Amino acid sequence: MGRYYFDKKDTAEDCRSVSISFLKKHDYFSEPCCMSGTISWKNYNGEQTASIGVTVSTLDGENYIRFQYTTTDRNSGEKTEYDYRVSLTTTPCNLGGVRYWFVCPLSKGGVYCGRRVAKLYKAPGASYFGCRHCYDLSYESRNETRSGMFGAFGGVLRTERQMEELRSQINRWTYQGRPTRKVRKLHTLEQRMEVYLSASTKYLKHRM
Ligand SMILES: [Zn+2]
Repeated sequence: MGRYYFDKKDTAEDCRSVSISFLKKHDYFSEPCCMSGTISWKNYNGEQTASIGVTVSTLDGENYIRFQYTTTDRNSGEKTEYDYRVSLTTTPCNLGGVRYWFVCPLSKGGVYCGRRVAKLYKAPGASYFGCRHCYDLSYESRNETRSGMFGAFGGVLRTERQMEELRSQINRWTYQGRPTRKVRKLHTLEQRMEVYLSASTKYLKHRM
């Protein structure tokens, strides 16, 4: 489902994501019903690129996160409003209490996913939040993260480094009136940078 603007595998860093840990950190689980807020994302320049409304309910039998947002088609400019719930489920914690999980709402080839996941993503151009399996995401920065060199910023730092490297290698920007291969690659990286997530701390919260 959805349409992609990158023909390669999208990396987790390219997508907007919402994690259980982020919600927990911002107290979305502190009341049974219901905590609402806005989560926004910024690009590398600190400009807001997207925001969504979320409501979390952890009432018995009413475990869900509600997503509300508007998407704009990049080609037609057409706006689509989304308002839907994704189920939450729990597992017991070793130290007592429960751990929350999203239940992936997507279907692939007519088969409902339903995976229990700690993070949901919205791939570029996609309509709904879903798990990384459904969006076929790869963890581009996994190795760097494991080595502890860059941690969560691995993707951003690596892209920045690639861009710098490319810029230093570019001798000519056009060939026969068209951008050269390296320039096109640089544009791709710039585009990727634009959609890079930095989960913003800017959020509003109120009880419904
Ligand atoms: Zn899924």
